[in-house]
Amino acid sequence: MAILIPVLSIAGSDCSGGAGIQADLKTISALGCFAMSVVTSVVAENTARVISVMDVSDELIRDQMEAVFTDIPPKAVKIGMLNTPTIMRAVATGLDTYQPEHVVIDPVMVAKNGAPLMQPSSMQELITTIIPRASVLTPNIPEAEQITGMQIQSVADQEAAGRAIIALGCKAVLVKGGHSTGEAIDVLVDNSTGKITVHQFAHARIQTKNTHGTGCTLSSAIATGLAQGMNTVDAVARAKRYVTMAIEHALELGEGNGPTHHFY
Ligand code: PLP
Repeated sequence: MAILIPVLSIAGSDCSGGAGIQADLKTISALGCFAMSVVTSVVAENTARVISVMDVSDELIRDQMEAVFTDIPPKAVKIGMLNTPTIMRAVATGLDTYQPEHVVIDPVMVAKNGAPLMQPSSMQELITTIIPRASVLTPNIPEAEQITGMQIQSVADQEAAGRAIIALGCKAVLVKGGHSTGEAIDVLVDNSTGKITVHQFAHARIQTKNTHGTGCTLSSAIATGLAQGMNTVDAVARAKRYVTMAIEHALELGEGNGPTHHFY
C-alpha cells in the first residue's frame, strides 16, 4: 500500500487548467505527493483573458480548511490567490488554528494578461497578516516592488528587496527574476535557520510565450519539496529545475500564453 505525503493548495481555480489550483494539483502529483485543495476564488479564465471572478465566502474557506486539516493534515501548504482582506483573514485564522509546518506563499497580484487577482485594498492585509506567516514567500519583481516600495533593477536590488521582506516577518523570500531582462536569476534570501544566507538560482531565459501558470507551479513545487523533508535551498533548487522543465515542454494550447507541462 502506497503512502503519499499530503500537500494542500489554498488558491484560485483556473478553469482552463494551466494556473491556480489546477497547476498546483498537477505539480504536487507529478512530484510524488498527495494533492488537496481549498478554493479561494473561482476564476473564469483561459490562456488569453480573465472573464470574471467570484470569491468564495470566508465561511466556506474556513469549512474547507476544517475538512482537510481535521482529516488529512497536510505536511506543507501552498497559498496562491487571495483576492480580498476578508479571504486573507479567513486563511490566516485557519493557519493559526491548524499550524501547518511549512507554508509557501505566492503573493499573486496580477495575471500575465493584466487582470487583477488581488484587490488593491488587500495590500496592507497581505503585509500585516499573510507575509509574516510564510516559511517561503515567492514574489516576482513587480510584486516585490509593490510590497517594499523599492525599485528593482538588478540582482543586488532583488537581494535588497528580499532582505526588506524578511524584516516583515517571513522566514525566507525568493525574489524571482523572470520579469528582468536577460538571464532569469531568482534570488533566495533565507532566514529559516535564524542566520540570513543568500543564494542565486540562474537559468538562461527560455524563449517561449507559453508561461501560463509558472508562478503557481514553482511555489507548489517548493511546498512539495519541504513536505518531502528538503531544506529551503534544496526545495527551491528542485522546484526551479521542475519549472524550467515544465516551461521547456510547455504546451501550444489556447490563443494566449500556453500552459506549462507537468511530468517528472
Ligand atoms: N489564475 C489564477 C487562479 C492564479 O492563481 C494565477 C496565479 O498566479 C494566475 C491565473 C496567473 O496566471 P499567469 O501565470 O498566466 O500569470
